[in-house]
Amino acid sequence: MDARLEAIRDTVLARNPGEAEFHQAVVEVFESLGPVHDRHPEFLEAAILERLCEPERQIIFRVPWADDQGRVQINRGFRVEFNSALGPYKGGLRFHPSVYLGIVKFLGFEQIFKNALTGMPIGGGKGGSDFDPRGRSDAEVMRFCQSFMTELYRHIGEYTDVPAGDIGVGGREIGYLFGQYKRITNRYESGVLTGKGISWGGSLVRPEATGFGTVIFTEEMLKTRGTSFDGQRVVVSGSGNVAINAVAKAQSLGATVVACSDSSGYIVDEAGIDVGLLRQIKEVERGRLKDYSLRRSGVAYVEAGSVWDVDATVALPCATQNELDGGAAARLVRNGLIAVGEGANMPSTREAVAVFQEAGVLFGPGKAANAGGVATSALEMQQNASRDSWSFEHTEQRLTDIMVGIHHRCASTADEYGEPGNYVLGANIGGFVKVADAMLAQGLI
Ligand code: GLU
Repeated sequence: MDARLEAIRDTVLARNPGEAEFHQAVVEVFESLGPVHDRHPEFLEAAILERLCEPERQIIFRVPWADDQGRVQINRGFRVEFNSALGPYKGGLRFHPSVYLGIVKFLGFEQIFKNALTGMPIGGGKGGSDFDPRGRSDAEVMRFCQSFMTELYRHIGEYTDVPAGDIGVGGREIGYLFGQYKRITNRYESGVLTGKGISWGGSLVRPEATGFGTVIFTEEMLKTRGTSFDGQRVVVSGSGNVAINAVAKAQSLGATVVACSDSSGYIVDEAGIDVGLLRQIKEVERGRLKDYSLRRSGVAYVEAGSVWDVDATVALPCATQNELDGGAAARLVRNGLIAVGEGANMPSTREAVAVFQEAGVLFGPGKAANAGGVATSALEMQQNASRDSWSFEHTEQRLTDIMVGIHHRCASTADEYGEPGNYVLGANIGGFVKVADAMLAQGLI
């Protein structure tokens, strides 16, 4: 890495102690940016990188609520408003016990570049809580969301900051959050949240968008090698919203998805996953993957080990950060892997990324490959602003065009900087330059 960038990186790491995931995300981006600063010394002069690594605003708050037994519970809420050079802060809320400031900052930092790559007018932010929705009743989730919004509402707005879902936050939670925002502010401000229900301001395709987009991006990568999803053997990790829709889209393009996972284990279904059954169990019943193996013949359920023990030609990690390590990457490569599309944020460790890149595997990093979700959120904002709602076909076409555009931007940037096929470099530089130019134009703020 360039010595000037190294010094800035060291300062950033020292200023943010104990935030391992944020460090990882920052280091990975810095490793791509040396050549940009050679061409654009004005970025260094204006301390763009130093500014980019310091969130514009960080909000941490207490979330008190009462469980069904009447016991008082306390969680911690976060919203990190990272960068607004391109538009209002935009990014999801994650409800998961692992959430702390370092996770929210890594996600918010990634979101800046991801959102820039979409070409839509959205800045970067992220939030969430260490609340664990698992095993909680609808009433408990509602009370938690109402308490969370009772603080958050003063910081957000359609022109300020527009949250959406992430792990643990789906349509149900967005509904409760929106209801409380409306009640406190006395405003039906549709554009303040995305991922809303279709009858009250949501967009068609938003639920499918992240998983679909990941597959569309990966298909574009495969095309550069003269191949496609048709006939591929695919493994998907996770079984949440992103994973389920990635399974559906990959199979619609002729792939066989043989495995997916949840936090207790994974299933192997050599005939190809039955998406209808998977949706029924995970989305309708909020059940466990084990139930899938009990209801369909010829399915193995494995509790020990990792879904990455299953051979695949295409891997779509759609669960969570650092779920795929160097050892798993090496095993997949040995057994015929040709492409990886990250549906989750930073699911591959730095060692895993190095293994994929050294082996010449097509590797689509999350900030490019999973940008379809937030891009469709921006389409939802567009529909809200014009009080309109688009058809499924039209919205899906917009999503497809955006994903093809992101692939093109990453690939052409990698070519321009002399590293053809390096989508990590292409995504980091492509996103960074757009934000840096806007920051320069807007002065020292
Ligand atoms: N949480 C999603 C992401 O990681 C979507 C955010 C949004 O729609 O604002 O990009």
